[in-house]
Amino acid sequence: MKPRLVLACLTTTNVVARARAEFDAIICSGPDDMTVPEATAAATAHRADGILFANTLPLTEAAIAGLPDSVRVLATSSVGYDHVDVAAARARGIMVTNTPGVLDECTADHAMMLLLAAARRGIEYDRIMRQGWRYRIGQGDLLGVRVTGKRVGILGMGRIGRAFARRARGFDMQVLYHGRSRLPPELEQGATYFADFHAMLPHCDFLSIHAPGGPATDRMVDARALSLLPEGAVLVNVARGSLVDEDALLAALRSGRLFAAGLDVFRDEPDFDLRFAALDNVVLSPHIGSATRETRDAMGFRALDNIAAVLANRPAIDPLWRD
Ligand code: NAP
Repeated sequence: MKPRLVLACLTTTNVVARARAEFDAIICSGPDDMTVPEATAAATAHRADGILFANTLPLTEAAIAGLPDSVRVLATSSVGYDHVDVAAARARGIMVTNTPGVLDECTADHAMMLLLAAARRGIEYDRIMRQGWRYRIGQGDLLGVRVTGKRVGILGMGRIGRAFARRARGFDMQVLYHGRSRLPPELEQGATYFADFHAMLPHCDFLSIHAPGGPATDRMVDARALSLLPEGAVLVNVARGSLVDEDALLAALRSGRLFAAGLDVFRDEPDFDLRFAALDNVVLSPHIGSATRETRDAMGFRALDNIAAVLANRPAIDPLWRD
């Protein structure tokens, strides 16, 4: 008998095909990802052994308490897990897994795309063309800021932060970073470590955020942090919206203290703060940093592999804790 699965999020046809082939699966049919009541009802009716979901399903303590006893594994198809109360799941004896590693390159590509588009005004130029152009642009008009050779600070030099650093070096950028601990030289690759986040900021022409969300990093990038960046700096965030004080960011963008920002993530998703959309110096994307065909397949497959391992009484590949 195949193990029973609830696939609670919309995903690629390849992941759906594998879920159907290897599991007795209830598949989310849309139009949106399942809500907590929908996923709970599906898991209860199906006596599901595992649930595959995305960061759209907030598995709070109460949500986890409501899951049927049949559930043994919760596999998020994401590396971030700030939407899951991992301690509550652990207390119920339910394993939680994520998908680290498989999305590093595409998420770092997305961050570099936002950095370049923000610095070089990509959205404004595109809009001019779609509106027909047909007027003179002087050599002093519509200027961006140079990227090559500048200094970029990375908040959170983990897997994605390091993939981003590799791209930045391709633009001859000098890489600085802050994390709670210094990396060994083979991972640091010549980057300059700052134990104090605020001490790094005055040296950052660009700041790219790659640390996890959650209470420990909430509003790390606040009005004070933004005020420490050099005049005309550019901010990129593909990590989590919770790391940024959005009111302070809006003020810095409106005043011109920050030249521009590239944002993939927001405090409230999908109902992000529409004041960002009114600004020309912001490049926006809808939390889609890992969204390539290859990576979304890899994330879904990794989540399925984790579920299969746990249900076969093998160790999870990506457990969020080890006993
Ligand atoms: P990771 O390998 O765990 O790296 C996270 C880094 O953040 C680590 O180097 C860690 O270093 C640092 N960090 C953790 N807590 C910190 C704190 N309180 N202060 C400063 N630094 C801290 O994770 P990853 O795989 O690179 O992913 C990073 C995040 O990107 C995920 O958590 C997720 O939220 C986000 N993400 C977004 C997308 C998207 O679609 N936009 C896609 C993938 C991932 P120390 O432990 O030394 O502090």
